[in-house]
Amino acid sequence: HHSVDSLPFSTAFTALPPPFFMRLQPTALPQPYLVCASASAAALIDLDPAQFSTDEFIETFTGNRIPDHAQPLAAVYSGHQFGVWAGQLGDGRAILLGDVPAAGQPAPARMELQLKGAGPTPYSRMGDGRAVLRSSIREFLCSEAMAGLGIPTTRALCVTGSDQLVMRETPESTAVATRMAPSFIRFGSFEHWFYNKKPEQLRILGDYVIDQLYPDLRDAANPYAALLAEVTRRTAHMVAHWQAVGFMHGVMNTDNMSILGLTLDYGPFGFMEAFDAGHICNHTDQQGRYAYSMQPQIAHWNCFALGQAMLPLIGTVEDTEAALAGFKPEYDAKMAALLHAKLGLTTQQADDSLLIDSLFAILQASHVDFTLFFRRLGELQMNNPATDAPLRDLFIDRTAFDAWALQYRTRLQTEDRTDADRRLAMHAVNPKYVLRNYLAQVAIEKAEAKDFSEIAKLLAILEKPFDDQPEHEAYAALPPDWASQLEVSCSS
Ligand code: AMP
Ligand code: MG
Ligand code: MG
Repeated sequence: HHSVDSLPFSTAFTALPPPFFMRLQPTALPQPYLVCASASAAALIDLDPAQFSTDEFIETFTGNRIPDHAQPLAAVYSGHQFGVWAGQLGDGRAILLGDVPAAGQPAPARMELQLKGAGPTPYSRMGDGRAVLRSSIREFLCSEAMAGLGIPTTRALCVTGSDQLVMRETPESTAVATRMAPSFIRFGSFEHWFYNKKPEQLRILGDYVIDQLYPDLRDAANPYAALLAEVTRRTAHMVAHWQAVGFMHGVMNTDNMSILGLTLDYGPFGFMEAFDAGHICNHTDQQGRYAYSMQPQIAHWNCFALGQAMLPLIGTVEDTEAALAGFKPEYDAKMAALLHAKLGLTTQQADDSLLIDSLFAILQASHVDFTLFFRRLGELQMNNPATDAPLRDLFIDRTAFDAWALQYRTRLQTEDRTDADRRLAMHAVNPKYVLRNYLAQVAIEKAEAKDFSEIAKLLAILEKPFDDQPEHEAYAALPPDWASQLEVSCSS
């Protein structure tokens, strides 16, 4: 195990030339304290969790102390925000400390460590370079919850806090979240050089991404086209996972789209509760551009924005379009596989789309809790409708449920699995626990009063979202009434 001081930092990112980043120091925060840390994230870099409570750890991951060989920097990127070209953005409050070897992976694999909220950078524009405790806890918990769900994501090592206040709608306490990923390069990193008409920088970036992150693509006939195809495939799979678990990102701007197909930038995200395909989780998104049902097509749109930016590298419109053409089939195939698994079906049959469409129609009509429905569906007994009550009771329209359940049982007859086997398989893909907004809110309110125990408790629960944890039954329940008043916005 490494201590903080023995982490072998380097800065692979600086293989890119100076216009890609600015070196700078984080701005210190007074008297930082540990809010939360993830042992499973620490394991990814072989960092000893016993370090968490040390001054070295807290000072380092607040940005008050720079470890040996770390050369902090902020990277430039641009992006489309809410469908509109926004020009230059960049790491306005995220500072890259450097990268360390990824534990248990072959030699070139690295993990970058980034301090989010560590002070202003040359890309801060009007911002203060800070992040509030509330949004940092949300990012921490959701990163680790997504990892627990098996969904591609950036990770969160820890959050540290300080009593220094920053102004949002009201004054809020400040925090720094340390995130980890093999790279934080975004679609917007490519768009930046395309829209600034710098084809040589675009090529340097393309080569860097291929050599560092996708080395297998180097031998492809057209490595840049192969890169676009692979990023498109990963993005399609990522968003299929989101749909299948009811995750809504909230701000799918191209600067928040990872070149590795990782869920990136946790802001006003949400998990679907009462099912509504048109649900908008981000209070700031008045048009509903990033509503639940829109996410697949927005992800596709974002891949087109990346393709546009990569066109000078790829060479022809035909090759670019061919690389992007994979989105729909990849998404459809992944989504079908995930939905079949959620329904406990081992085969795909011609009429299954009818079964699935009618399911989403009754979930919508009765505003059924998404997570509870699929979890309880796993308890269904083939020949014993009398035991359906916990599932059936989720519906306002019980007749509609009964009709669908009949359809489902008929379909199950074509499968040869026992109730017990199907239950086991379904519980392994339908989580019992997701990060409901109100659960995060309870943990945040306690943390604002300096009680961090609820975050640790939630983390432990959400790391094993598929396990029945009888002592934590309340965390799997329907949200309380006050939860419907909660609003999350871009303010962070
Ligand atoms: P986001 O909507 O979180 O993806 O942020 C969009 C852009 O605004 C990114 O370039 C961020 O770095 C920047 N940004 C967000 N909040 C702040 C802040 N408080 N200070 C400086 N830059 C920020
Ligand atoms: Mg962002
Ligand atoms: Mg953000």
